[in-house]
Amino acid sequence: MDKTKLRTIIVATRNKGKLREFKSILSSTYDKILSLDDFQGIPEIEETGLSFRENAFIKAKTTSDFLGMDAIGDDSGLVVDALGGAPGIYSARYAGESASDDDNNEKLLSELKEETNRNAKFVCCIALVCVNGVEEFFEGECRGEILSEKRGEGGFGYDPVFFVPEYSRTMAELDPHIKNKISHRAIASRKLLQYFSS
Ligand code: IMP
Repeated sequence: MDKTKLRTIIVATRNKGKLREFKSILSSTYDKILSLDDFQGIPEIEETGLSFRENAFIKAKTTSDFLGMDAIGDDSGLVVDALGGAPGIYSARYAGESASDDDNNEKLLSELKEETNRNAKFVCCIALVCVNGVEEFFEGECRGEILSEKRGEGGFGYDPVFFVPEYSRTMAELDPHIKNKISHRAIASRKLLQYFSS
């Protein structure tokens, strides 16, 4: 792969919150950051993997094979210590197949109602799949605590209940520039960018 020519990248997602963050994080390196919504006819990608890594790979590989272009896929989620790692890879559908962010947050708060151990982390795995056969993985984690109620309007997903002790704010209360520096997605993306610049 000619790393210097990689100016367009496809992010294998339809999640608007994720895409917004990837655009912000990757925009200094790529001229064009496209998502699945920029193409017609891409089949629904089933997340049948049993780990963040497997699901990230399925998304990137399916997209790269279908479009004949280099693609990245990310799989991310919330890992809660007191819930044995749940919701984990099932974060998007924790409260059911078509659950909203609010539904998932309600379920999480109810599961943790009597729990004193509030430790949790966000995890992100990015898979890069290139048409020339390159397959690489980049991982990031961000630790925090689950509050007992939602706070803040920013971000998406579990951000309103995820408290970041070093900033004394939830992810949803943080300035997006800060979130995009410290988040699991930001850490994994930096590793991806380092790979391209090395
Ligand atoms: P995926 O699209 O299968 O990777 O699911 C990711 C899910 O994990 C999202 O729908 C959110 O529920 C959760 N998630 C991932 N990253 C974040 C984040 O940065 N903030 C809040 N929730 C997140």
